Amino acid sequence: MTTGWQGVAALVSAVFAALSGSGNPAPIDDYGWPLYPQPAVVHPFEAPPQPWAAGHRGVDLKGDAGQPVLAAGAGTVSFSGVIAGRGVIAIQHPDGRRTTYEPVDDRDPLGTVEVRGDRIGSLAAGGHCGSTPCLHWGLLVGKDAYRDPLMLVQDRRVRLLPLG
Ligand SMILES: [Zn+2]
Repeated sequence: MTTGWQGVAALVSAVFAALSGSGNPAPIDDYGWPLYPQPAVVHPFEAPPQPWAAGHRGVDLKGDAGQPVLAAGAGTVSFSGVIAGRGVIAIQHPDGRRTTYEPVDDRDPLGTVEVRGDRIGSLAAGGHCGSTPCLHWGLLVGKDAYRDPLMLVQDRRVRLLPLG
């Protein structure tokens, strides 16, 4: 009798090992929108058809120039600088995720420890939404794999399904 419950237990263990190794299924309860009140999504995430191809590696959130930009979750500022003329700030979260925000002025400096909702800077004009100010919000998991950041603020609905 080698393929009974022991086989099932081994399978379950393997599945859990695979899950914990993916770097993705950490709880998302501790994340929230980076703008307040909850912003409109101007432009959704579009995964590139190939890793090297163009896409839209984040979401654009409607805002007002000068509006506070908030840490989507607890973490440490891992980048704060200017890229191609735009202020960019990134937060490394303890679960391995990294969130990025641009264009942001008056940014907190590298190494600042943030809790969810902390002001990390202010939304600058000149984002890529034309005349409408918007925050480009990005999410990276693991080795620079871009994901849809809306998963951080929308997937929680699944948790409300009744059990049984
Ligand atoms: Zn964008």
